[in-house]
Amino acid sequence: MATNSSLIIDNIGSLITNDPALGAGPLGIITNAAVVITNGVVEAVCPSDTGADTRIDADGACVLPGFVDSHTHLVFAGDRSEEFTARMAGRPYDGGGIRVTTDATRNTPTAELDRLVRQRLLEAHHAGTTTIEIKSGYGLNVADEARSLDIASTYTPETTFLGAHLLPAEYGGRADDYIDLVCNDMLTAAAPNARWIDAFCETGAFDADQCRAVLEAGKKAGLGLRLHGNQLGTGPGVQLAVECGCASVDHCTHLTDDDIEALANSDTVATFLPAADFSTRQPYPDARRLIDAGASVAIASNCNPGSSYTTSISFCIALAVREMHMTIDEAVQAVTLGGAAALHRTDIGRLTPGSAGHATILDAPTHHHLAYRPGVPLIRQTIGPLGTLATTLGGPWERGLVERATGIQSGDPPGRDAST
Ligand SMILES: [Zn+2]
Repeated sequence: MATNSSLIIDNIGSLITNDPALGAGPLGIITNAAVVITNGVVEAVCPSDTGADTRIDADGACVLPGFVDSHTHLVFAGDRSEEFTARMAGRPYDGGGIRVTTDATRNTPTAELDRLVRQRLLEAHHAGTTTIEIKSGYGLNVADEARSLDIASTYTPETTFLGAHLLPAEYGGRADDYIDLVCNDMLTAAAPNARWIDAFCETGAFDADQCRAVLEAGKKAGLGLRLHGNQLGTGPGVQLAVECGCASVDHCTHLTDDDIEALANSDTVATFLPAADFSTRQPYPDARRLIDAGASVAIASNCNPGSSYTTSISFCIALAVREMHMTIDEAVQAVTLGGAAALHRTDIGRLTPGSAGHATILDAPTHHHLAYRPGVPLIRQTIGPLGTLATTLGGPWERGLVERATGIQSGDPPGRDAST
């Protein structure tokens, strides 16, 4: 990126700043606006041109902060479309297919795994995402968990060690031995490339004591805490996350009154993953009750090959509005400010002076269209780092992705050496 570069996006019909002091309503909306981004940082939100180096004419469209996708599992190989097809024909989801992905991931060379991650990052970029969290969790041994985080950390600072995703087959019947490995050798290998630690607290995965051990070990190693909980039924996940001071507890599909009260009285963000509930034919979370009780909420894609193979935050917004009774303003805030809060970030998720210059330009006059026109590709352009991270993908359709993301025909790979 050139130094001292400045960009103005002007002729914006509706600019969402996410700062009520700057504009109307909770989203701080300014009409007929412009935003000036200098060296990747928002310099000004203003009504007129300032002589920037580059100009983008929004032509009356809505501009909003780039989406913050605070929960993904992008480092994987293989696909599980057959499992999805069988599920749609009536077979219930139990999380067991994670082992299928683990086998495929372990058996895939690093350069290919890296290429798959870049391909998904480009897809997310096209869908308006500018900050993305990436978890490990399909290696489930020391070398492959470390390798997954090494790849993820090339592309995002928001990396999460999820060794406690599911018990690998070779540890069948020895869950405590596996947790011991996760808390010691695996954590030691993973920690240098991880910002966060996470565990899957669910019947069929790990219980509260096992997850607590993982979180405590991670905290001791200097990692921030997150937890998967309450996806398939009520359970101890939410209470454990609040007790441990997790930044976020993710899924929250099945909540008791006590869970709602605990979240409302905590700093832990409840992150909804409605595309997973869609793909597993689960009920949707009762977002309305949680928000009305005063809890902080986020929405993320949970992109993974088993239960939510989508990078589309717009799709998640539409689900949250239609199925979870969130207002469109709440849903848009949950994928911007909410995602930022779930990652303990204050520099993203808003378009205010001093914040990151990450913006999404819609092919629509207002943000309402994100829910009003479900399934329509309304992201005209994304201004953010993910599109430039992942050039030189191989096949024709992949090159098309790169060209649309970057506006350039080809380039040197900023990613990893293909020989690794
Ligand atoms: Zn997940």
